[in-house]
Formats: sequence, C-alpha cells, structure tokens
Amino acid sequence: MIKRQTTINRIFKLSGIGLHTGKPVNMEFLPRREFGIAFCIGGTIIPARYDMVADTRLSTQIAADGKSVSTIEHLMAAFYYSGITNCLVYIDGPEIPIMDGSAWEFYHEMWRAGAYEFPEAGVYLKVLKSLEVNNNDSWIKVKPLNTLDITLSIDFRPPVGKQKKRVMDVENAISIVNSRTFGFLEELEAIQKVGLAKGASLDNAIAIGEDDIVNPDGLRYGKELVNHKILDLIGDIYTSGFRILGKIEANKPGHYLNNLLIKEIFSSPDNYAIY
Ligand SMILES: [Zn+2]
Repeated sequence: MIKRQTTINRIFKLSGIGLHTGKPVNMEFLPRREFGIAFCIGGTIIPARYDMVADTRLSTQIAADGKSVSTIEHLMAAFYYSGITNCLVYIDGPEIPIMDGSAWEFYHEMWRAGAYEFPEAGVYLKVLKSLEVNNNDSWIKVKPLNTLDITLSIDFRPPVGKQKKRVMDVENAISIVNSRTFGFLEELEAIQKVGLAKGASLDNAIAIGEDDIVNPDGLRYGKELVNHKILDLIGDIYTSGFRILGKIEANKPGHYLNNLLIKEIFSSPDNYAIY
C-alpha cells in the first residue's frame, strides 16, 4: 500500500449524528501538509494521537485546552484503510458522527476524494520487541513481523459467546471496514439512564437481545462483531500516528488496552523503528 505521507486530494464534508449526544455534527476534511491527523474544534487543534487520549470508557476521546472529540476510532480506522497520514478535520460538535456504526461512509468519502502523496516517507512503525499489556483478563501481545497480522478473541454472553478471528493481511481486509458497532440491550438501557447513547438506533448499531440479533436484516458477516473489535483496534493503534507492522494477538481488548499498547511501544526507543 502506501510508502509515503499522504493526504486527501480535495476538501469534502460529512454530517451525521453523535451516538451519545444524539445531536447533528458536521465535519469538513482538509488536506494537510503537516504529518498526522488532527481535529479542529472551536479553534483548538487536537492531534489524533495516543498521548492526547483523555477517556477510553465507551469510545476513544482526545482532549486539549478544555475541548474534546469522542468516538474517533472508526474514523481513524478509515484513515488507516485509505492510506491517509495527514489530514485536518474541522468538527462543530464534541463527537464524531456514528454514521452506520462502521467506518464505511468515512472510507467511501476518502476514496472519492482521492489521495495526494508527499515525498516524505516515515509512515511505518515496525515493532522490534515482543511486548504485552494486560488489564484483568484482557491482554494484547505484539511480536515483530513485516506486515500487520491481527488475531482477536471476544467472549460475551450468549448468543455471542466466544469468537476468534485472524486477519493476516490487514491492509486489504475490507470486510473489517463495514463491520458495525454493537451493544447489548440491557447495557443500552443502563447507558441511556445516565444520558448517553441518545443517538443509538438499529440504523447505527447491532443490537443484541436475549436470544438473538434484534436488527431485522441480521449481520453483514458471520463474524461481524469480532470484525468490529478488530476495526476498533486498528483505529485506536493508528493514534500512534504510524502504520504498525507486527503480529498482534488480543484477548477481549477495549479502547483502554489498545491505548496502553501504544504507550508501551513508545515507552522505549528500543521497541520500534520508523521508516
Ligand atoms: Zn467501535
């Protein structure tokens, strides 16, 4: 795929509603010469970088100077899949729109805009050492490898149960991009009681009931749920700023652990090489 810094070839706009606020949000995507993805909200520029992450409970939120942007992970995965390393995103609300619950619409608009390549390289981060991060019974391990290879396991109450998936050629696994976010009906009620997930509907999430998937059209893929967790992982690790090369194994990961993995990689210059 890409070897050099790349931005979008033209300006484009996207609008939608925030999953948690339920309010309309407008975004404008601008080509950027400077390396990295960044958001601009109310005049404050916040780099979409792991060290700006302020909250990882329901989504990945970045913050600076009293301003924040939540639910950046699906958009970050779309940037990864589009090969875009440099972009400035103006946003007029505190949450990236949820769209259809996947990264598909972001990815599609980036594809339509096209890509513009700069001469500079330095977009890959190769992991040089075996590393591991843990949180209760969740863990992520990474080992050196010349590609990105992800194996991810989830374990939820029935009817989901245990599911595992390995994606050896992550850059080309497009079924990850349109796999939607999901939630359990009982958790949705609890989250809505505290004023969150106001925008959640069957148009932007897979709802899991007592015995079955509630959405009338069912799943897009047999492993859509585990695919989506891989999408979240890809979006979160792209806050490293780089396309990571390594063999990742993850057991029940979440945004907190995904962020911890990047912090662990950057904890020593011996852990990685950029090229
Ligand atoms: Zn997600």
